[in-house]
Amino acid sequence: MDVTIAGNAGFCGGVRRVVNLVENALSDNLRPLYTIGEIVHNRRVVEMFRDRGVQTVSTANDVPGKCTAVIRAHGLPAEEISVLRAKDINLLDGTCGKVAKVTYRIRECAVEGRLIYIAGEHGHAEMKTHTSIAPGSTVHVAGLKQLMQMSIPRIPSALFAQTTFSPSGFSQIKDHLTGCIGDLKVFDTICNWTLEAQRAAAEVAGQVDLMIVVGGKNSANTARLVEVSRGAGAETVLIESVDELRDYDFTKIAMAGITGGASTLPADIDEVRRFLERI
Ligand code: SF4
Repeated sequence: MDVTIAGNAGFCGGVRRVVNLVENALSDNLRPLYTIGEIVHNRRVVEMFRDRGVQTVSTANDVPGKCTAVIRAHGLPAEEISVLRAKDINLLDGTCGKVAKVTYRIRECAVEGRLIYIAGEHGHAEMKTHTSIAPGSTVHVAGLKQLMQMSIPRIPSALFAQTTFSPSGFSQIKDHLTGCIGDLKVFDTICNWTLEAQRAAAEVAGQVDLMIVVGGKNSANTARLVEVSRGAGAETVLIESVDELRDYDFTKIAMAGITGGASTLPADIDEVRRFLERI
């Protein structure tokens, strides 16, 4: 079978950085070692670290003293960071620079007295980080449909996006708010890495019989890759590991494409490639 791997498949820069942070902490024997929330939205990566002794806790309150704790790429809500700083621990900040930049700009706009709109997925870890900056003056927007049911105050405002939000969804929200609010600062904070991964996935999906998306079933950016591959007309399968392909009927498939979410191990993508090439 002919196999093409789409560009930017697998670990993005932010995930690679935090994974390296944990790897280095393990090499330096900084134990006990905790992550607050799953280190990335990928079960296999979480299990790999768990087997090597990395413990995952739900909140900063669950981190005991005298340990090393890692903040994941999505960052942490401001109040949880305060809890960690008050403890006697070695804190390693793995917040992606792009996420940190969004948080910084939100803080600036909040100081200017603006109402903050953030387009994103309800309950997502990155959204919790952003909405913690100015909780009393932040409005979470899941999509245009929800926004159209809201009353929009005509006051100075600012609009941001979760870094993995859909560009078309953001554009709809921006157009609607621009029509309602005279003084609106717009920050398109969608991550270029994920945009490029989506563009490359759509390009490959347009040329193959089957597109395999490798990634966590709880990962927002992986779900987006499935969406764009289907949108490009390809039969698309989402898998977390190559084992899920063992019973697939490949008889009518001559060309397959592979892409992977920003939290997908490069080794997992390679394993899928080798499996398909043997067919
Ligand atoms: S997807 Fe972009 S913003 Fe999110 S962690 Fe990766 S590099 Fe950072």
